[in-house]
Amino acid sequence: MTDFELPPGEKWRQFELYALGFRDFADVRPDVPLDPFRLARFANLLIVSFDQIKGLNPDVREHLLGEASEKWSGGACSIPLPDGRRIVILNPNHGRMRTNATLMEEVSHVFLGHQPSRLKVVAETPGGRTVSREYRKADEEAAYATGAAALVPYSALRRFLLEGQTSQQIAKHFHVSRELVEYRLKVTRLWRTYRSAHSTT
Ligand SMILES: [Zn+2]
Repeated sequence: MTDFELPPGEKWRQFELYALGFRDFADVRPDVPLDPFRLARFANLLIVSFDQIKGLNPDVREHLLGEASEKWSGGACSIPLPDGRRIVILNPNHGRMRTNATLMEEVSHVFLGHQPSRLKVVAETPGGRTVSREYRKADEEAAYATGAAALVPYSALRRFLLEGQTSQQIAKHFHVSRELVEYRLKVTRLWRTYRSAHSTT
C-alpha cells in the first residue's frame, strides 16, 4: 500500500486501515459503493424492520416515528438470539443514505470488537423492557469514523475530488449523504482543497 492512500494523522490512518479491511472482507474495491446490508450478515446482525416489533405500545410507536423520529437512527439489541445473531432496528423514516451510515456504524462496533459499557432502557412496555447497548465515547467515535471511511474510502475520495466532482456527486456515487462526504473531506484534511475548487458552491 502506498502512502498517499492513507489520510494524514495517526488516528485517521488507523480508522482507514480498519475500513479498508472491512472492504477487503466484503471483497469490494475502494472506489465502488459498499452495501452495509451485505456486511451486516458477516457481522452476525439481523436487521428487523420497525413494523416487525411486536408488543410495542402504540403511544411509544407513535412517539418514535413522530416527534422523536429525528432523535434516533437505529441500534442493536443487547441480548443476542440463541443462534448468536444480534437484532438491529433501523428508523424506517430515515432515507437509505442515512440508514447506510447508521448500519455501517453498528457493523463497525462488531468488527472492532467493542464491548458495550452499559445498557440503556429505551422503552418500558407491559411486555417488558427494550434495552439498547451503549458504548464508550471513544468507541462511538471509532465506530462512526471507521464506518464512514468504509463507505467513502480516502483514496477514492481524493481521486474524485481531484477530478472536480462535488460532494453531492460523490455522495450519490457511494449512496451516502452529502453531509457524510463533507465530514470525510474534513477529517481527512481535504476540505480546504475542496473549498478552493468549489468556492462558488
Ligand atoms: Zn454506536
